[in-house]
Amino acid sequence: MEIKVSPFAGFCYGVQRAVDMACKAASQGPLYSLGPLIHNPLVVAELEKKGIKVVSSLDEIPDGEAVLFRAHGVEKEKEEKARMRGIKVIDTTCPFVKNAQEKAELLYKEGYQVIIFGEKEHPEVRSILSYTDKSAFIMSHADEIGQSELQKAGVVSQTTRNREAFSSFCAEIVSSSVESRIYNTICLATKERQEDARRLAGETDFMIVVGGRNSANTRKLFEIVSAVKPAVLVESADELRVDELTNYDTIGITAGASTPDTTIRELIVLLKTYFGG
Ligand code: SF4
Repeated sequence: MEIKVSPFAGFCYGVQRAVDMACKAASQGPLYSLGPLIHNPLVVAELEKKGIKVVSSLDEIPDGEAVLFRAHGVEKEKEEKARMRGIKVIDTTCPFVKNAQEKAELLYKEGYQVIIFGEKEHPEVRSILSYTDKSAFIMSHADEIGQSELQKAGVVSQTTRNREAFSSFCAEIVSSSVESRIYNTICLATKERQEDARRLAGETDFMIVVGGRNSANTRKLFEIVSAVKPAVLVESADELRVDELTNYDTIGITAGASTPDTTIRELIVLLKTYFGG
């Protein structure tokens, strides 16, 4: 059995930056995280051991304490509320997400009907929405655009969306609007990871995607590779049924942007122990 690992598997720039900022801040005193810092339960559990308490609302944090804002951003009004209460904000929002928030705000202020190409309930999308005074439409398919003609359409994307899907969506927007302005806010890490996952799936017999099931970019990778080859999504090595892989000669491994290297290594060790090599 040959194992091929994507060179892009593991923490992306934005996640590494957020974890580094969180560890540094945790060493300086009590710390809260408004929602999970990143979309990986194993990493969040490790951070909890360092004293970072995950809360779902600012109301759970005493005045004057410190809070982490997650890599995929929080709503604008929460930032304002935290500052008004004297809560120290350590903002780990990834610069790519900041860019999407800023572009949405710019379009909104310039009178465009903002359209966010993304998942309605995703925290990042909700954070981008808040920069348009909650006036943006959120769509994930061109058929949601409808028949009505848009006067001024301004489009941004959730950072982890598929580029091809975004291009097709934007083509529909252009043909349905009098004027349109489009910002491609998909991040570079997502593009590289998705392209390499597709390539690797083409070269192997079976693909393993490692990452949190609550991670949009992990789910997207699974969607991409399973369109090419049989595949499985696991959060950790314990979930893998190695005995079901005996018919495959080559296994490919890729991982979401919030999957730590240790989880990927554990999976490789498990495969090598079972199949040898
Ligand atoms: S996937 Fe992209 S947008 Fe998300 S944290 Fe990583 S670099 Fe930032």
